[in-house]
Amino acid sequence: MPQPGPGRSHRQGITLKKLFKRFPDNAAAEKWFLEKRWPNGIACPRCGSLNVLTKTKHKNMPYQCRDCRKFFSVRTGMPMQSSKLGLQTWLIAMYLHSTSLKGVSSMKLHRDLGITQKSAWFLAHRVREMWRRDETKDEVFVGPIEADEAFIGGKVKSMSASRRKQFKGRGPFANKAAVAGVKDRSSNQVRIRVIGTVTSEALREFVERYRNERTRLFTDEAAAYEDLKRHDAVKHSAKEYVRDEIHTNGIESFWSMLKRGYIGTYHRMSFEHLFRYATEFEARHNCRDFDTEQQLILMVRGAEGQVLPYAKLVEYGERAVKIALGWKPPVHWRHRKTAKSD
Ligand SMILES: [Zn+2]
Repeated sequence: MPQPGPGRSHRQGITLKKLFKRFPDNAAAEKWFLEKRWPNGIACPRCGSLNVLTKTKHKNMPYQCRDCRKFFSVRTGMPMQSSKLGLQTWLIAMYLHSTSLKGVSSMKLHRDLGITQKSAWFLAHRVREMWRRDETKDEVFVGPIEADEAFIGGKVKSMSASRRKQFKGRGPFANKAAVAGVKDRSSNQVRIRVIGTVTSEALREFVERYRNERTRLFTDEAAAYEDLKRHDAVKHSAKEYVRDEIHTNGIESFWSMLKRGYIGTYHRMSFEHLFRYATEFEARHNCRDFDTEQQLILMVRGAEGQVLPYAKLVEYGERAVKIALGWKPPVHWRHRKTAKSD
């Protein structure tokens, strides 16, 4: 009997037992990746040609493009390129990430998969990479849309006395990074962006990105949105949370899932990688109505061209900080020395 997937009873899940029966080894997982990545036949990742020679004598690259002569495998041009982990391990990691609504810690992956915590951490970030959207291709929502912000990071009051000194006089949000989000009521889709510090420009630019002249907008009374057109706000300060259809409960329930992941699973999301964690929660929300296998297939499709070497992953810090317009990261977030700046 098909098992319901997590979150939604009508969708078809895959049990762990079934997962291992279907993918008992790397060969079975490789066959699945091949079918899902190239449903119309193996194509060259460099030039797209279908004129491909199979069963080459190359040690790790079983295919060769007859047009551009490039050797490749199912991993080439994907996050698993040059990974030493087996494809079965990759598939299990993808499965765990798509079925665990509050995320999977690298400690759990390390224990469950029998790999070091460092490679589990690297693996998890590359799995998140499969979920990354190209923001420039995002379409405008039909609406109405709800917009809100959340703050992610530890509390200053629960730090040790010596660390608390760094934050003295900088307010309760000094150690937190702001994340802006919109939720479209008609499609139930969510879009998230890490903005670092809340500024009117950052919030408005983000929200306006997802609407046109007909889309209605619901927010709380935050000043940033005040004079925007087709906009209604509820007054949280006056204990008003819902007025007819005007409320932000949808985006707020998304924040509560992200925060439960922060508190219960990850305990810490460093600012430089926060956008990846946000992507993870956003993607899981947006595909929660699909069957588990369908979710895994979407990840394979999204993985095309997403290569993330370890050096690039740890180097990212400085760029992420630059993205956060005007935001001054606390001292401990600035520890990472980057080899090259871009
Ligand atoms: Zn080619």
